[in-house]
Amino acid sequence: MQILKEKIKQKAKTLGFDVVGFTKPHVDEDTKKKFKEFLENNCHGEMNWLERHFEKKIDPKIIWDEVQTVMVLGLNYGPKANPLLKNNFKEIANASVYANNKDYHDVIFKKLNLMQKWLINELKIKSKLFVDTSPILEKYFAKKADIGWQGKHTNLVSKEFGSWLFLAEIFLPIKLNLNNNSIDNCGNCRKCLDICPTGALIDEYKIDARRCISYLTIEYKGPFPQKIRKKIGNKIYGCDDCLSVCPWNKFSTPTNNKDFLSSKNEKELSFFLGFSEKKFKKFFKDSPIKRIGWVSFMRNIIIASGNSEEKSLIKYLKKLSKNDNPIIRGSCIWSLNQLMKEKEKKIFEYMKRKEKNKYVLYELDMTNKFF
Ligand code: SF4
Repeated sequence: MQILKEKIKQKAKTLGFDVVGFTKPHVDEDTKKKFKEFLENNCHGEMNWLERHFEKKIDPKIIWDEVQTVMVLGLNYGPKANPLLKNNFKEIANASVYANNKDYHDVIFKKLNLMQKWLINELKIKSKLFVDTSPILEKYFAKKADIGWQGKHTNLVSKEFGSWLFLAEIFLPIKLNLNNNSIDNCGNCRKCLDICPTGALIDEYKIDARRCISYLTIEYKGPFPQKIRKKIGNKIYGCDDCLSVCPWNKFSTPTNNKDFLSSKNEKELSFFLGFSEKKFKKFFKDSPIKRIGWVSFMRNIIIASGNSEEKSLIKYLKKLSKNDNPIIRGSCIWSLNQLMKEKEKKIFEYMKRKEKNKYVLYELDMTNKFF
């Protein structure tokens, strides 16, 4: 079994995976309890699928009753420079590191498919493949498979790759010799909790997604809570602050995977403010950003523009404030209010007379309140 395990591991490495581990398809009672509490406290916000898939999450056998081993695979996407530096460039549309390149789901799935073919052809072993595509507690299994540990920010930390590993899983219907002993190396550090702009890390190892910029800019479809908008800064898709500050990143190395090297999506906010839905779909066709759709993307760009202190963006926002979508109109009103001089704000009176939508009228009413 040890030889078989090594053979499978070596094949995964030749396909480009940087780290591979194996564990049992079993979720411990403490993890189940904490996940239940997370849901009961509504810390998952509007991610209702987490509730719907609770049973599957805590028992991989519901997903595939033949599974005997969970193989966890990690791919390094380490950036060249610390992403925290990007927070200083207010005119830049600051997307999470993982979203600046090709969609990792597509890149990894190709590798997993090759792995699956090899398993069946060479070893006659069936398998099931997952890359963020099914209800699997992937960080938990990565920890159990000795890929790293779940840091106080709840994400995976690796001694070798820091915060920068994409994860995937392969379910195998065979038992392998396992010797798991993952250790938590956070010690007294609290850097990730201290840096979180919105206080989403409510305690060590506890997150409230409703305050998390990643959740708000990617999963959440409504208007951003007023009190959080300024804290979002220039972030337009996800947030890497808690990952970037982790001291373990000093051992990480930048990825050399060509699919994750470019930063084609890194542009100024003005570049995106003129995007139509058609242009959005074309520009982001290979990027994970396409998943949030044009309205959420424009909402994010508009709010970041309001935080930019860039008066030159006012003309774009005025144009967008006439858009049919109330989320876009409402976001523009907030951002115009941040950028315009007092005497220019008479425009809000004119908008009020024409506006019918209750939410947009609320945004207009809020223009003379301070946050
Ligand atoms: S920043 Fe510190 S506390 Fe947070 S995950 Fe890294 S080591 Fe752990």
